[in-house]
Amino acid sequence: MNSENPIRVRFAPSPTGFLHVGNVRTALFNWLLAGRHGGTFVLRIEDTDAARSETRFERQLVEDLSWLGLDWSEGIDRGGEYGPYRQTDRYDLYRRYAARLLDEDRAYRCFCSAAELEETRRLQLERRETPRYAGTCRRLPPDEIRERVGRGDPFTLRLRVRPGCVGFDDLVFGRIEIETSQVSDPVLVRSDGSPTYNFCCVVDDLLMRISHVVRGDGHLSNTHRQVLIYEALSAEPPRFAHLSTILGPDGQKLSKRHGATSIEDFRRRGYLPEALVNYLALLGWSPPEDGREVLALDEIREQFDLGRVQKSPAIFDTAKLDWMNRTWIHRIPGTELLGAARPHFTAAGLLPAESSPALDAWAGRVIDLVKTRVDHLDQLPEAAEVVYGADPPALDADARAALAAPEGREVALDFVRRVEAGGALTPEGYRRIVGEVKSATGRKGRHLYHPIRAVLTGQGSGPDLETLAPLCDEGARLPLPRPVLSPAARARRILEAV
Ligand code: GLU
Repeated sequence: MNSENPIRVRFAPSPTGFLHVGNVRTALFNWLLAGRHGGTFVLRIEDTDAARSETRFERQLVEDLSWLGLDWSEGIDRGGEYGPYRQTDRYDLYRRYAARLLDEDRAYRCFCSAAELEETRRLQLERRETPRYAGTCRRLPPDEIRERVGRGDPFTLRLRVRPGCVGFDDLVFGRIEIETSQVSDPVLVRSDGSPTYNFCCVVDDLLMRISHVVRGDGHLSNTHRQVLIYEALSAEPPRFAHLSTILGPDGQKLSKRHGATSIEDFRRRGYLPEALVNYLALLGWSPPEDGREVLALDEIREQFDLGRVQKSPAIFDTAKLDWMNRTWIHRIPGTELLGAARPHFTAAGLLPAESSPALDAWAGRVIDLVKTRVDHLDQLPEAAEVVYGADPPALDADARAALAAPEGREVALDFVRRVEAGGALTPEGYRRIVGEVKSATGRKGRHLYHPIRAVLTGQGSGPDLETLAPLCDEGARLPLPRPVLSPAARARRILEAV
């Protein structure tokens, strides 16, 4: 990990769908490893599956990574010394390496048709054997090969796997070794000339000088094949670290069945990037210091260490993610949350689409007032109802009882008269009026505040009135798509409704 051996890691998604929790955690751990050691985080796009790759998914994943703060200094959209960084732009390179392996007899042409391979597989399964390539074309006589190539018979290119053992020291799972007889000679190039994942991945990791491959443990069996490909290319493989699968609370592999899993879903529902990366970092890794769990990305980066990545599967726990999100929502000021919260407010018809300094400052304070009641930002409009006020106002039983009692009604009436007579209801104005009501009625404590709350909000409990009342007063004078009832107007209607 010095300057002669710099850490170079990559995130290599296939743009075949939305980024989900699992691959974002992979991106995150790579980013953390690079950041911790002053290394380079490369973004490479593995788009060789032409039928399933789509540019909209590539655009989306670029947006997701940027939103999460997982920036890359080399790769697509950035360039770099070892580009291009999209596999479909690298076919010449793969062809060159394929030709070299064929030339050195490390790979061979396989003329077996899909139907033949399927038939062998069926028979092997019938005999309860592990399906593997039978080696039919491993030793075809050169004449026959020449003839079939001349005839235009389609063929794939397969790696000639050597006998013996193949293994690697995984930084998470330890030494993993298998008999190569368990590995079918992997296809490097398909009969349509397209290179396969295992082959492209090795060529790219090699040419891009990747030092550490950090990826999901679903790739463990590929890694053996890849190590054999490195060997055939007489190259040293990178270090490998496989991350355990993320499971749902039911112990099954995390999937859509467990609710939102794509980053796009989480963003739309108002999860904060700070909370997501914080939560995902703790899925399979634990901080060494003082057990503190709420950590900003740069704090995690300072502490990150592959040695503390666990090999047992991590369980995705929505309740904990919600707690984490709540915690981050509390930490971040309302005006900063507004950017992400605005679409929710506009969709609910509570804020105009265009912003203005006065509106934004007010909306930021509304968020600060009600954010303690939400797990994610899409719940803010509902929580903000307490500021907007229903028209006619809804009264709960508690408020109704407080206002039906003669003493309570007296306090409420006195309060409303003073609010109506006063000018703008500032926090100081509110405090002054409450003081006056107290002297005029001789009520104090709950007997004073409860009716005031009831007449202002129609509820028996709710947020701090000294903040709420001035916010409603100010809101009533702002050009909002759904008008806010002024405290005086709302109180009048509430009194009429009792
Ligand atoms: N494109 C592969 C995937 O998305 C990358 C695997 C790897 O990191 O080697 O699973």
